[in-house]
Amino acid sequence: MPELPEVETVRRTLAPHLTGRRILQTHIGEYRRTVATPDPERFCARMDGRSIVELGRRGKFLLFRLDSGDTVTIHLRMTGELSVVEPAAATTPHMHLWFDLDDGRQLRYYDVRKFGRWSLITPAQFELFDQSIGPEPFDPELTAETFASMLRGRRRILKPLLLDQSFIAGIGNIYADEALFRAGIHPRRHSHELTADEAERLLCEIRWVLSSALEHRGTTLRDYRDGNGEPGENLSRLQIYSLDHDDPCPRCGARIVRDVVGQRGTRFCPSCQPVNPQAK
Ligand SMILES: [Zn+2]
Repeated sequence: MPELPEVETVRRTLAPHLTGRRILQTHIGEYRRTVATPDPERFCARMDGRSIVELGRRGKFLLFRLDSGDTVTIHLRMTGELSVVEPAAATTPHMHLWFDLDDGRQLRYYDVRKFGRWSLITPAQFELFDQSIGPEPFDPELTAETFASMLRGRRRILKPLLLDQSFIAGIGNIYADEALFRAGIHPRRHSHELTADEAERLLCEIRWVLSSALEHRGTTLRDYRDGNGEPGENLSRLQIYSLDHDDPCPRCGARIVRDVVGQRGTRFCPSCQPVNPQAK
C-alpha cells in the first residue's frame, strides 16, 4: 500500500499535467463503489466543468482542489493507479474512473483489486477529514517535544501506534519498520515508556526514512507506479523491511526476527532493538 513517499511522488508527477486543467466530463465504469461519496450521479455533476486548482496530499490521501471549493480525496490502497494519456491510448477492464480534460487528454484511474476510494467533499467536510488525521511528519510544528508528549499521551504498543493515521499521518508498514530499526527501538515497546531522547531519535529517523524514500520516488514492492507509470527506486535502499526471518542484521550481524506485531508482519533486530534497553 502506498505510504507518504509514494503518494507524494504520484502528486508530484501528476501536478504538471493536471494543475489548471478543466474537467469536461466524468465517466464512472461498472464498478461504481470506487466513488465512496457522494453518489455517482452527484459526483459527476459536481466534477464536470470544474478546474483542478491544485494537487495536494494529506497523509496517504491524494487531493485535488477544485475551483468550486470542493476537494477530491483519493486513497489508492493496494493497486490504484492514475495516468494522463491521449484518449486513443489502450485501456483495460480495470479502468473504473476517467475524466475528459480540456487539453484533449484523459485522466484515467485503474485499480485491479478495486480497494481504492474517491470522495468529493465540501470545505466543511474537508475540515472534519483533516482533523481526523494526525500531524504530517514534516510539519515544522511537530517538534521533538511535541512528539514525545504525543507518545506519552498514548499507552500503546509502538508499531501499531505509528501505523495509526489519527496519531501521525502517512506512515505504513515499510517505513514504520525502517524508522524503528534505525532508531534502535523495539516495535513492541510501549509509547509512554520511551525516554525524551528515544522519542527525538524516532522522529528524526521517521523523517530520514521518508525523505530518503521520497528522493528515490518511493518503494515499489510489486504494484506501485507513479503518475508517469514508473516504479519507485527505493526498494534496494531499505535496510530491514526487505529481509527475511534469520537473515543477518545489516548493522550487527545478529539474526533478524520476522514476527507479527499488531496484526502486521514486522521485522526487527533483537540485538539492535532490545525490548528492555535498561537491562543492556
Ligand atoms: Zn542488529
